[in-house]
Amino acid sequence: MRIVHVTTEFAPLAKAGGLGEVILGLAREFLRIGEEIEVIIPKYDFLDTRQLEHLNMEIPDFKCWEKGSLQPNAVWSAKWEKIPLKLIDSRHPSGYFHRGKIYGCQDDIARFLYFCRAVAEYLKIRGGHIDILHLHDWHVAAVALFARDLFKLPIGAILLTIHNADYQGRCAHWDLDAVGLDGRKYLSPKLLQDDQFPEALNLLKGGILFSDRITTVSPTYAQELLTGKETRSLQPTLQKVKKSFSGILNGIDLDVWDSGFSSLDMDDILDLKKKEQEKLIKEHNLSSQKGPWVGAITRLAAQKGPELLEAALHKTIELGGTFILLASPASEDLRLHFEALEKRYARSDQVLLLLHYDEELAHRLYRALHFLVLPSRYEPCGLAQMIAMRHATLPIARATGGHKDTIRHGETGFLFPDYTRSSMEGALTEAFSLFRKHPKEISRMIGQGLAIDWSWKIPAQNYLQLYKSMPSGSILKN
Ligand code: ADP
Repeated sequence: MRIVHVTTEFAPLAKAGGLGEVILGLAREFLRIGEEIEVIIPKYDFLDTRQLEHLNMEIPDFKCWEKGSLQPNAVWSAKWEKIPLKLIDSRHPSGYFHRGKIYGCQDDIARFLYFCRAVAEYLKIRGGHIDILHLHDWHVAAVALFARDLFKLPIGAILLTIHNADYQGRCAHWDLDAVGLDGRKYLSPKLLQDDQFPEALNLLKGGILFSDRITTVSPTYAQELLTGKETRSLQPTLQKVKKSFSGILNGIDLDVWDSGFSSLDMDDILDLKKKEQEKLIKEHNLSSQKGPWVGAITRLAAQKGPELLEAALHKTIELGGTFILLASPASEDLRLHFEALEKRYARSDQVLLLLHYDEELAHRLYRALHFLVLPSRYEPCGLAQMIAMRHATLPIARATGGHKDTIRHGETGFLFPDYTRSSMEGALTEAFSLFRKHPKEISRMIGQGLAIDWSWKIPAQNYLQLYKSMPSGSILKN
């Protein structure tokens, strides 16, 4: 089966969050089971090409139409650990992919629509049949429009995976005109017109309607999207394609996240945890007396529940534990707020706040912590809770989306129902009490979490089954 992924992230070369890890894990597993796959991404200026093998220019010059001009591009082929990559090298005068970052530019709509058109142009020039075109999130959703509506490419079926439905790519109809699609034609409720802001087009909605199947990254999040509990604006569109929409849980890459704990007995695991804590105690002047260790390793964004993270810090202090936060602020407001907290607790031997992104430290913290707090407002899937369980760290998570599908309360972690301080504090208090009064119970839960196979084996089989069952021709046409 010939499978082509189109995405804006591929870890570790271009990673902003979980999406990059998902593409890598899925691609590795498909390669292992002998499927023919390739991954198409932009050739960002920050890509470390030294990490690539067999880097070759496949097409030195092909043109992509934008605003009445033909813009130059090239395509490079390369391999990253045997995974075939195609890098679209845009030489657009605005330097669309030469911004030192993936997202967060004012012209993101124009940049990613251009990428979508360039991908479709490249597939047209290259020719040949593709069995499955697998698109990820709004940034590449318009590839489905180009493939089906403009170029009529020979593609068996198109799958769109929604990794986070809060980001939808709302734009004006003239943004589509700019890349050669008739924007006004799509400004209709049956097509791309946004169901919340009728003057806008919605690229994710377009991807949903012009693909054959739609998935999201956990069954519970799929239900939440369908019932309007999350991201209400997509609900009518998803209801329309309900029979073609499902949730497939993500996995984690066990090469990256191998703690080595699953082959050890509990005493050795707890001993290693203690050793990792002792190192951190020395490095950061923490107290050796104050357990359990509670923490979070997260993007600091509204989705991840910053208010409840702060409340968890206070409650942990009150209960006499240690709290460690490794968080990368996603906004200036949150950075300033947490920097003030950091100053306030600078001398505390119970609190450590680190406001940056640090993969190596993340690995160490997963090993050291007893409990990982995950108070998300919503969570499409979440990888951190699975990584935690691999490291004998019990998640304390809000019961939403993927958390509900991966954590069993009282068995592999703790779930709290509401996005409120008291709901979170209830779960934290229960965890503390169990830790202090019934350590055997905690060990039993750790053991159950460690025994779960979070690898990509099962998710990849689920995707493969779906690919094989996919009809041809977009939902819209049927
Ligand atoms: P999301 O993709 O929504 O941010 P996920 O739980 O799916 O959340 O994935 C987050 C990944 O990023 C995990 O591997 C987590 O360990 C990692 N991570 C998040 N913040 C940091 C940080 N500040 N430093 C290091 N790793 C981080």
